[in-house]
Amino acid sequence: MTANLLDYDLEGLAAFCEQLGEKRFRATQLFRWIHQKGATQFDQMTDLAKSLRQKLPQVAHLEIPRVVSRQESADGTIKWLFDVGGGDVIETVFIPEADRGTLCISSQVGCAVGCRFCSTGHQGFSRNLSTGEIVAQLWFAEHFLRQHLGRSERVISNVVMMGMGEPLQNYAHLLPALKVMLDDHAYGLSRRRVTVSTSGVVPMIDRLGRDCPVALAVSLHAPDDALRNDLVPLNKKYPIADLLSACSRYQKFAPRDFITFEYCMLDGINDSVQHANALVSLMHAQSADGLSCKLNLIPFNPFPASGLVRSPMAQVLTFAKILSDAGIVTTIRKTRGDDIDAACGQLAGDVKDRTGASSRMAAQRQGMLGGIKVVVANKVSI
Ligand code: SF4
Repeated sequence: MTANLLDYDLEGLAAFCEQLGEKRFRATQLFRWIHQKGATQFDQMTDLAKSLRQKLPQVAHLEIPRVVSRQESADGTIKWLFDVGGGDVIETVFIPEADRGTLCISSQVGCAVGCRFCSTGHQGFSRNLSTGEIVAQLWFAEHFLRQHLGRSERVISNVVMMGMGEPLQNYAHLLPALKVMLDDHAYGLSRRRVTVSTSGVVPMIDRLGRDCPVALAVSLHAPDDALRNDLVPLNKKYPIADLLSACSRYQKFAPRDFITFEYCMLDGINDSVQHANALVSLMHAQSADGLSCKLNLIPFNPFPASGLVRSPMAQVLTFAKILSDAGIVTTIRKTRGDDIDAACGQLAGDVKDRTGASSRMAAQRQGMLGGIKVVVANKVSI
């Protein structure tokens, strides 16, 4: 079996080149061809020695998961469904805005955390993605979008690890993937523009702070342990006090001067005035400990199995006003890609049939979804 070069950060690729008896600088050349230029054939890599170009196909390949479908929302959001083998699929979402292009990347197939309000969590857990499968989502989206939009410069300016899965429960594969995203010879994204979102895996927050401190978003969703235990079961292992202490430690390394806390607004569950006041007290206690917080309120995206309902906008606004009147920077997330189920917490919610034969998938393959452009693409391989 040959090596998938998307599994390597630059250090790993240098070690691979050394094993082949090649100088380390060859790794930089190879890395640039793959990630910056999107080359898919070794014989395109004209500044590599001919002998290396001939050797590489025998020992290495680039593995890009097959695209099952591409859906484009009326608001410009694009969602890809990738086949990662064994009946597993993952989703990747591109969200264009006036001043940035954000790619939302998956880190696992399904998720073991099982948050009540999350469609992915309701699917259960299948497996971790490899580094190559995480990086391939960025590789594919960046080079597809350049072609699609007719641009030669970088399209994706921000990455959020907020797709399917809990990234910090796949740390060994996440870390090299983050290093590829940040590397100037690959995508050159700034640490401020790469965000890892976690439901609160406390020991791994500390490790990320030491190894690769990118921007951090924490799924909070409740101001007290009793409610959070119910909404985010991982809270039973790492309760709010431990989680916020880890955030305070992280802030010393963080590239931004605040940590974002996500709060999904659930009607009648966590959205009352009392909850808002409790959240203010919690956040104020943390600022006394030196933690700067930003609150991001997320309108819930309903799915039938959850039994939960989105808070009315008036309630979200009341909640937000209580927080901002108390001096807490608060934003309300715009929902994007609603019409293609690409909004937060909706990813791959309809793809449970591991034979790939669910009616929804079949409809996608046949381009039958009303009003949604569906494209079935071919496998990219070399
Ligand atoms: S919200 Fe995140 S951590 Fe929770 S179940 Fe969904 S994917 Fe997993």
